Amino acid sequence: MPFDLIVAGGTVVTADGSARADVGVVGGRIAAVDPSLGAADGARMVRADGLLVLPGVVDVHTHTRVATDAQPDRFYQESVAASFGGTTTFLAFNNPGTGATAAADGSLLRGLRQWQAATSDDAAVDYAVSLVITGQQSDPIAELPEAIEAGVPTFKAFMVYDFGVDDATLFRALRTTGRHGGLLQVHCENRTILEARTQDLLASGRTAPRFHAESRPPFVEAEATHRALALARAAEAPVYVVHLSCREALRHIRDAQAEGLQAFAETCPHYLVLSDRQYELPDEDAACFVISPPLREEGQRDDLWAGLADGSLSLIGTDHVPDRRSVEKQSWSESFDRISNGGPGIETLLATVYSEGVAGGRITVERMVDLLSTTPARLFGLASKGAVEEGRDADLVLFDPAVRRTLTQAELHHTSDYTPYEGLDVSGAVRSVFVRGSAVVVDGRFVGRRGYGQFQERELTWR
Ligand code: MN
Ligand code: MN
Repeated sequence: MPFDLIVAGGTVVTADGSARADVGVVGGRIAAVDPSLGAADGARMVRADGLLVLPGVVDVHTHTRVATDAQPDRFYQESVAASFGGTTTFLAFNNPGTGATAAADGSLLRGLRQWQAATSDDAAVDYAVSLVITGQQSDPIAELPEAIEAGVPTFKAFMVYDFGVDDATLFRALRTTGRHGGLLQVHCENRTILEARTQDLLASGRTAPRFHAESRPPFVEAEATHRALALARAAEAPVYVVHLSCREALRHIRDAQAEGLQAFAETCPHYLVLSDRQYELPDEDAACFVISPPLREEGQRDDLWAGLADGSLSLIGTDHVPDRRSVEKQSWSESFDRISNGGPGIETLLATVYSEGVAGGRITVERMVDLLSTTPARLFGLASKGAVEEGRDADLVLFDPAVRRTLTQAELHHTSDYTPYEGLDVSGAVRSVFVRGSAVVVDGRFVGRRGYGQFQERELTWR
């Protein structure tokens, strides 16, 4: 067969197993995975001896911000950072507060078209979008079926923040996505309780960043998670819980799954790797870890890893927010509730999960591939992504498991000016990355092209 590219001699990892195999690529797609393809006339040969050949990571939770006149390169630059980290497809939210292209009348569909115009010909890797429904849109439900038809079948609703939705709107959004082949992603925290706790903390002078965690303890997340699941059950709809951080919420996910509800939950690297000890840092450093839900006590991490291992947690997304300590995090000196929530992670997903999860003995490398690529691609309707197998896009990561290195901001490419993982010693490093058969990173050097990345229309075939 006349291959364009052969990746030879590596260990190909799928969700089901690992084996030494060559990968043959034709026209950007995987045409063969075979123990020995041999040399082929005209094919570019890339040796992968001693390396893992992984499917490109699919990060379904980023707040990557579209370009503006003031920051014309920020969307592109985040896509470059993604590629360095082995992420070949990312989803962004058209999200109030993080660079939304909201139509003046709140129309989801006009906002979608503006977002697509603002991001076209800009990314170095493939990308897609989830739309955010808010309490400020006049009718956030009406346009959901048409958006699903247009290839955007996933939506996010917040139970908190001034752009959050009330329970009635959440229920209607679940019912409509359920009936029309969509999926609702829900940020679960109890708004009135955390606002009351915040007011109490501020009134007693406890304004430092460390009190962010006290304003929203695990029960605040667990109660809202339970409520979202109850509404999904009543609406006969599937539901996806974003950024689950604690065992108290995970227990409700397990109960719902045991009842047969299509309940899915993601967790994030910061809940797996970090802990609330970060809030003991000096205020200007602690502010960098103001993320919602907050970092939890250390013992929580083992429960999340157990959830990933046993399947009750479906996948890991980053919740990447490209905040900068010199800009968005500066308001720490006022009070914790004024600090932008979030932190960067688009470039460190595979690094942290491989090192802490696989090298740390908590999950197998096959389970990692399932959590970072195969399940996110399937759940979010990216049929051509997520596995090194015949017929899929040749999104390939050549990963060296033997390297030891230290994560540091100086070596990252995202638009943030810090990483939450500064100084973390990790096992493994991305060597080369291919997107649809084209090299984007070679031996740690960016060789991609702005605008190569394609917008992915999606359909939830599992629905
Ligand atoms: Mn959130
Ligand atoms: Mn988020």
